Amino acid sequence: MKRNTKIAILGGGESGTGAAILALKKGYKVFLSDNGPIKDKYKSVLKNYEIGFEENGHTFKRILDADLVIKSPGIPDQVPVVSMAKEKGIPVISEIEFAGRFTKAKKICVTGSNGKTTTTLLLHHILENAGVKVGLAGNVGNSFAWQVAIREFDVYVLEISSFQLDGMFDFKAEIAILLNITPDHLDRYEGNFEKYARSKFRILQNQTENDALIYCYDDPVITQRLNKSTMRMQLYPFSLMEMDFGQGAYLKEENIVIKTHNKPFIMTLEQLALQGKHNIYNSMAAGIAARLMDIRNDSIKQSLSDFHNIPHRLEYVASVHGITFINDSKATNLNSTWYALEYLDKPIVWIAGGIDKGNDYSMISDLVKEKVKAIICLGVNNKKLFDAFGKKLKSMVETTTMEQAVISAYHIAKKGDVVLLSPACASFDLFENYEDRGNQFKEYVREL
Ligand code: ADP
Repeated sequence: MKRNTKIAILGGGESGTGAAILALKKGYKVFLSDNGPIKDKYKSVLKNYEIGFEENGHTFKRILDADLVIKSPGIPDQVPVVSMAKEKGIPVISEIEFAGRFTKAKKICVTGSNGKTTTTLLLHHILENAGVKVGLAGNVGNSFAWQVAIREFDVYVLEISSFQLDGMFDFKAEIAILLNITPDHLDRYEGNFEKYARSKFRILQNQTENDALIYCYDDPVITQRLNKSTMRMQLYPFSLMEMDFGQGAYLKEENIVIKTHNKPFIMTLEQLALQGKHNIYNSMAAGIAARLMDIRNDSIKQSLSDFHNIPHRLEYVASVHGITFINDSKATNLNSTWYALEYLDKPIVWIAGGIDKGNDYSMISDLVKEKVKAIICLGVNNKKLFDAFGKKLKSMVETTTMEQAVISAYHIAKKGDVVLLSPACASFDLFENYEDRGNQFKEYVREL
């Protein structure tokens, strides 16, 4: 790119502001535009750097005059300003693609429908404890571009969503982790699962035989696609079966075994800080990546056992009169709720509902039959939940506030039961976001 290249940045949040700073530092002409209001903290940064910006609307002429558009992942491809830029032949890329062009650091990229944040933070924890100069970016933490602009790391662990992948073209992950592909966000992919899966597979693009792909062997969507692929990267599958891969991770009795290039890594499941089947997968994936980074076995073991779980993911809240309360507010799709129900081994009073992104509840009907004694619906429209379970369960309650939901659950639950908030839906009908939903849950539980 030439130095007088004009770059328009769409979206003035963390990633857009970071991209603007990096673009400015690299000598480009930068203009940032946001359709809504920009937070004060980003506005003052933009002002300090003397970067031109506008909020609450786009000046199309100025944006369409750019040579390159960097789009925040929250903006769909279908909005007029993006489709017009594309029609005009202006490349539209993501902040990750842009920042990737300016760093020599090794990039370990984590994607999948569920478990991205957990695995990214876990791997970052392992590498940092082992003394690696490692940055954390992508959907979690600070903007990748911003960090590339102001400091240098040897390695980055990046959480990458499908929306970011859609704007990535020349970027290459030296180590890619593909956790799972199950239906989510289909509203942004015209209801087409194939398109969504294709988008996730972009994590592999540009990989060569010197790069590594760590992937879930038990996920049929991933393995079927990989079987058809002719790519040559090194493959490291992980599985909950006793597979004895030559390289990869698997279970042997009650142990995780990880094999890469030297002595196998072995650790008992009991020692893992993160419990539940889904977290065995996450620990395996992070463990393989750590081994590929030449981290010592005892150091990996230590970090896998002392990691503190992050809030809103199967988070223990309290025990009140023998009833356990668990906050899994981040479960915004059915697959993540499946793992929560599967994990718990006590009768469950399940708080569910919100904005449904296309759930097929038959996927969990056996688990519900086996473990759930009551459902507390917490959403503006609970029809789908009632259609799926109304005839099967004696106890189904409708609520419209978290306070009502917690109190109803508390009255229904008995000593020895679990009250689980794992909504399988987005939160925007009644809450600001999943954090607000989870925080309100914790607050009302503590008031009991
Ligand atoms: P993401 O960043 O992909 O949304 P998180 O780590 O924030 O993933 O977890 C989101 C939800 O998915 C939580 O409810 C969590 O318990 C569940 N989860 C975590 N890892 C997995 C996995 N490997 N498979 C399925 N569900 C998972």
